[in-house]
Amino acid sequence: MNRFWSRLVHELHPYVPGEQPHVADLVKLNTNESPFGPSRRVLEAIRDATAETLRLYPDPNATALRQSLAAYHGVRPDQVFVGNGSDEVLAHAFVALLKQDEPLLFPDITYGFYPAYCRLFGIHADTVPLDASLRIRIVDYSRPCGAIILPNPNAPTGIALSRAEIAALLDAHPDQPVVVDEAYVDFGAETAIPLIPAYPNLLVVRTMSKSRALAGLRVGYAIGNPGLIEALIRVKDSFNSYPLDRLAQAGAIASLEDEEHFQRQLSMVIDERDRMTEMLTRLGFEVLPSAANFVFTRHPACGGAALAAGLRERRVLVRHFGKPRIADYLRITVGKRSDTDALLTALKAELERAS
Ligand code: PMP
Repeated sequence: MNRFWSRLVHELHPYVPGEQPHVADLVKLNTNESPFGPSRRVLEAIRDATAETLRLYPDPNATALRQSLAAYHGVRPDQVFVGNGSDEVLAHAFVALLKQDEPLLFPDITYGFYPAYCRLFGIHADTVPLDASLRIRIVDYSRPCGAIILPNPNAPTGIALSRAEIAALLDAHPDQPVVVDEAYVDFGAETAIPLIPAYPNLLVVRTMSKSRALAGLRVGYAIGNPGLIEALIRVKDSFNSYPLDRLAQAGAIASLEDEEHFQRQLSMVIDERDRMTEMLTRLGFEVLPSAANFVFTRHPACGGAALAAGLRERRVLVRHFGKPRIADYLRITVGKRSDTDALLTALKAELERAS
């Protein structure tokens, strides 16, 4: 507490990101990063951008990157907004679209930045409980609201909604902005992007942090009809007109140009997720059906906090959220095959210790 702080700051409970340890000998399965490196073309593009142009400001409109993203997703460049990670894109969306006079609806168990942004931007949140199997039920979103945001697949459960379910949500709320956060969609869920022509209220938010192995570059983007994108640009230009640096713009474009590398890594993560799910199930874990690069899992004989602490002692980092209804669960990022093996060895030892 500090008497120079604003009242707002006194009342904030900021989002706490997963630990980024400063030692290398940990099996790091706690923040949903890719276990593989980005395409070599990304590294070359960043090196070239560094040598040639770092003394110059970047393109404030990220024109080339927006063109590349538009071509990749089959939309027009005026339907694309880019920002410094999808967290920043989401922040702009909260100010530009989600701050309405009526409450914002989102799931009670979901990405922790949504409640944090509500407090920061003075938005009234109305959270909708997940059902008994920790799923989002679209019918529960039929109550009056000013706007809606949800991740698909949801985080931290990893469970996906179908495109038809997203369309039903949009049909039920034609006059409210609806933001679908597709941070993990590439790992097995249906994107809502094909719905955009029919729904002027839909904004889809994406990141290059997970499926494109570029968390360190901080590139996020949004796709929607030009009216929504224009609102995000107004907020950006009132805040920081250079959201993406030159290296990020160059690297992101190069990533989109290496589809083969992208697809290969996606299938390696998905195969390893399936193997990990099977091995965890054999150890007695209940694993929720994941369409993401992580699994959400619990063991009937061992609490989540104890397991997470025990794994940490054994040099394996996973994520545990000590929240009601999910306190027994661990969120475990899909890593390399050797990471899964180390995880399973540590889990077996922990389960033996607990029995
Ligand atoms: N949305 C969800 C659901 C996430 O889990 C994350 C990653 N923590 C983000 C958005 C933000 O990703 P980034 O800022 O790295 O693009």
